[in-house]
Amino acid sequence: MNIREKKISIIGAVRSGIGAAKLAKKLGAVPFVSDSGSKEKLQHSISVLNSEGIAFECGAHSEKVFDCDLMITSPGVPTDSPVLSKARVKGIKIISEIEFASWFCKGIIISITGTNGKTTTTALMSHTLNECGLKCYAAGNIGKAFSEIALEVKENEFVALETSSFQLDFTDKFKPRFSMILNITPDHLDRYNNNFDEYIASKIKITANQDESDFFIYNLDDLNIEANLKNMKVQKLPFSLKREAPSGAFYKKGKLFFLRLNKVDEICTASVLFIKGEHNIANALAVLAVAKLLDLPNEKIKNAFSSFKGVEHRIEFVRTLDGVEYYNDSKATNVDSVWYALKSFDKPLYLILGGKDKGNNYDQIRELVMKNVKKIYAIGSSAKKIYDYFHAIVPTEIKDSLEASVVTARKEAECSAVVLLSPACASFDMFDNYEHRGEVFKETVNKLV
Ligand code: ADP
Repeated sequence: MNIREKKISIIGAVRSGIGAAKLAKKLGAVPFVSDSGSKEKLQHSISVLNSEGIAFECGAHSEKVFDCDLMITSPGVPTDSPVLSKARVKGIKIISEIEFASWFCKGIIISITGTNGKTTTTALMSHTLNECGLKCYAAGNIGKAFSEIALEVKENEFVALETSSFQLDFTDKFKPRFSMILNITPDHLDRYNNNFDEYIASKIKITANQDESDFFIYNLDDLNIEANLKNMKVQKLPFSLKREAPSGAFYKKGKLFFLRLNKVDEICTASVLFIKGEHNIANALAVLAVAKLLDLPNEKIKNAFSSFKGVEHRIEFVRTLDGVEYYNDSKATNVDSVWYALKSFDKPLYLILGGKDKGNNYDQIRELVMKNVKKIYAIGSSAKKIYDYFHAIVPTEIKDSLEASVVTARKEAECSAVVLLSPACASFDMFDNYEHRGEVFKETVNKLV
């Protein structure tokens, strides 16, 4: 695709917007970056854009953004925002940053989406392929923006691409060799007019341009995916924790298998995996499916699975103190991920829940809480809602801060229990982001004596 001299407006001046602007400039186009955020908030981006010699504006979107041949939007910009709506009316083509980067990437794209597990699976995918002797970049939300690495990737190299539905909303020709959907559960519905079907359609779009030469790996246990499999040209390959399909990756009696063309490969026991929980077995099965389609040796896949230590803030082990284990799962920003976290432990749990509520319905974790949780510490703006829901089931206490919850849990948790931060909520009421929340938790835990 020749974009030389083309005027490209880029909406959003954070990671993906900056990446797209740099790529556009390298390719001889004329990028213009526009962000409605303040100068103060965008200091870092402004210094990058200045050093790259890329024109930009911040504080508001001026009419100048519509003077372009193409518009690239960032995942954080709502689909119905005035700037995008106006561009649509003017007939301007709007694409996402991954769509743009994919036009210029010669490598093999493994696009990974799902409500939960994208980062972990992307990291495990690149780790596994690299450990097996291939070259695989991890990009998207994880690591660098796709646009930052798109030109580096050679024809026989891979990109494990963490792909959000917001990026998929603005794809057009995006055609990964491998695509995968890990799961679809209600989340981010505020971006989809509270319409779950719209959110599902956005995820399914990952396969829209794939054909018979491509592969679609999907979770057979997820009914929301299964209902959408008809009329796909792509080769479909399922993975499952529960069922053995005629082909695909599956889990049976504590082991991971791969089955294709009537040949069964036993890869390893699930205990080989360092990362905890059934959900991570599912993530590993998804990776296994790609690894076996690439014909990688079983022994090397097994070694890669055992040497992968997980990603920060996802059921991350922090320390053991007087027989009590502390885990940081700050990235659990919805009820579904807390369900998986609770399923991952068979010890008494002291659970820290709360933050900014996203319309949570706690019915999904009610039974597991009753079974395994000894006490809940409720924090943040949703503390009262959590207290109201849980106090009749399990001792629940509202705490002023995350730090105070940790200190109390230290006093109350008995030997061989687990103190788990798995908040089910966004962090913005108390912290800059979930990473900040996880860091505060870890610091507090590491200071305990
Ligand atoms: P994402 O990038 O999709 O947000 P992460 O890998 O960052 O996913 O994990 C986010 C949260 O979801 C963590 O709390 C993690 O334990 C949980 N999780 C990871 N994989 C899965 C899965 N396959 N199903 C459900 N929850 C998962």
